Amino acid sequence: MDLTLTEAQLEFRAYARKFLDSEVVTQRAAWDRAESVDISIVPKLGEMGFFGLTIPEQYGGLGGDYLTYCIGMEELGRADSAVRGIVSVSMGLVGKVILSHGTEEQRGHWLPRIADGSMLACFGLTEPDTGSDAGNLRTRATREGDEYVLNGQKMFITNATWADLCLVFARTGGPGPKGVSAFLVPTDTPGFETREIKGKLGLRGQATGEIFLTDVRVPVSARLGDEGQGFSIAMHSLDKGRVSVGAGCVGIISGCLDTVVDYATQRQQFGRPLASFQLIQDMIADISVELDAARLLVWRAADLIERGEPFGTAASKAKYFASEAAVRAANSAIQIFGGYGYIDEYPVQKYLRDARVMTLYEGTSQIQKLLIGRAETGVSAFL
Ligand code: FAD
Repeated sequence: MDLTLTEAQLEFRAYARKFLDSEVVTQRAAWDRAESVDISIVPKLGEMGFFGLTIPEQYGGLGGDYLTYCIGMEELGRADSAVRGIVSVSMGLVGKVILSHGTEEQRGHWLPRIADGSMLACFGLTEPDTGSDAGNLRTRATREGDEYVLNGQKMFITNATWADLCLVFARTGGPGPKGVSAFLVPTDTPGFETREIKGKLGLRGQATGEIFLTDVRVPVSARLGDEGQGFSIAMHSLDKGRVSVGAGCVGIISGCLDTVVDYATQRQQFGRPLASFQLIQDMIADISVELDAARLLVWRAADLIERGEPFGTAASKAKYFASEAAVRAANSAIQIFGGYGYIDEYPVQKYLRDARVMTLYEGTSQIQKLLIGRAETGVSAFL
């Protein structure tokens, strides 16, 4: 694996950072306080190409490689994880599975609009009673002639109240993962209702919601993949999603490092800059090492994806390490800032609040460890 970024990747990183510094970083504290990003950022991100990074040109995307996608997610995570999540769910979790599992008609219909940011998609897997145990979800899709009728409830769904399309996972067969199918459901379908969840610790600018499905009718052509393939589609999507979350966490760590170096070299105590104290350098050194380690794990997973090799365990390692390291980095950053780290004049408290969910969603740290343990031992902890 060559770790040298190409000219195009370096240019993209500089272009992304310049745009995000002016359009997102300047607004993130206000969006966080208001518990909503200004949604007009979405078409602007679309124009800049963020939603089409890995979608092929024939469907309106940029057709970029996976490492470039990770660079984009890193820059978004550094700027504002709430914004990163909007992009990575719409394009990463939903757009990319339409690309890999959709019919030509489904691709042609949905991908160009996802790729240009003119619409958002959400990923409806989690339910009130099934999170880690998603294979036992209860939402039902009953076949009636040329239609399916969906009934059930989804919980904690990113973009739920903003999305035009929801990828809904619902049970068409018997119990367990093999009974699950996937459906592309336009959110204006009668019986599809949402309610926003307020009061989150972090990602406050992002719309996270509940979804209520009451006799939602979709044609058979809305099914993504075959009946019973839904759970493996969800897992395929989440494997790649974990690389994206890992890349976003690398962005959080990178943002923490730059912010603390800046502060510690300027802030004086005892007549000397904070950076001159060895106990402060100890924390900065740990952030710096974990930044490199997290980025290398993410890039390794991206490289495996790009080369078409198995990447699931590498994705779990990247997501597990990067998310836990982002929490540690942001926590140390607050320590280095002292009392100023505790107020929202500086971004470090937001980095910590945003980082905290990264060890929970798209598979908790415990679930990642079980997946890594299964790969090492050949023994599954899942029933
Ligand atoms: P549980 O599964 O109940 O887990 C609780 C605890 O038990 C955790 O510590 C977990 O690690 C542990 N645990 C569970 N099983 C085991 C086990 N076998 N061994 C050891 N420990 C175990 N979901 C979507 O479908 N789409 C989204 O867009 C989405 N966005 C989200 C956004 C936010 C802000 C949040 C908070 C969540 C989002 N989620 C989304 C849901 C998220 O993926 C789940 O919260 C997550 O999978 C954990 O499920 P749970 O909350 O039900 O916790």
